[in-house]
Amino acid sequence: MINPDCSTSYPGIFAAGDITNAFGKRIIIASGEGAKAALAARQYILDLRKTV
Ligand SMILES: Cc1cc2nc3c(=O)[nH]c(=O)nc-3n(C[C@H](O)[C@H](O)[C@H](O)COP(=O)(O)OP(=O)(O)OC[C@H]3O[C@@H](n4cnc5c(N)ncnc54)[C@H](O)[C@@H]3O)c2cc1C
Repeated sequence: MINPDCSTSYPGIFAAGDITNAFGKRIIIASGEGAKAALAARQYILDLRKTV
């Protein structure tokens, strides 16, 4: 199960593509979700650095 930003219920774990509950099992959707997950993961790391 993913949230709109591809994050999961486990902090720091992001998911994309067919393994998720996202609608539409298609290459273009998996690719877009992958890009979204990468951006969200980057933001997660940047936010972590702010708290340290
Ligand atoms: C027969 C068929 C035809 C299709 N035709 C189309 C089409 O014409 N157009 C279209 O848009 N979509 C099509 N699809 C759907 C499309 O293939 C998928 O939506 C897309 O490939 C999903 O990408 P993904 O990266 O999420 O998953 P996948 O492409 O399944 O990639 C997952 C990868 O993870 C690897 N993996 C699995 N477990 C592990 C592990 N434990 N450790 C490391 N690696 C692991 C797998 O080997 C695989 O390489 C088709 C699907 C099938 C089955």
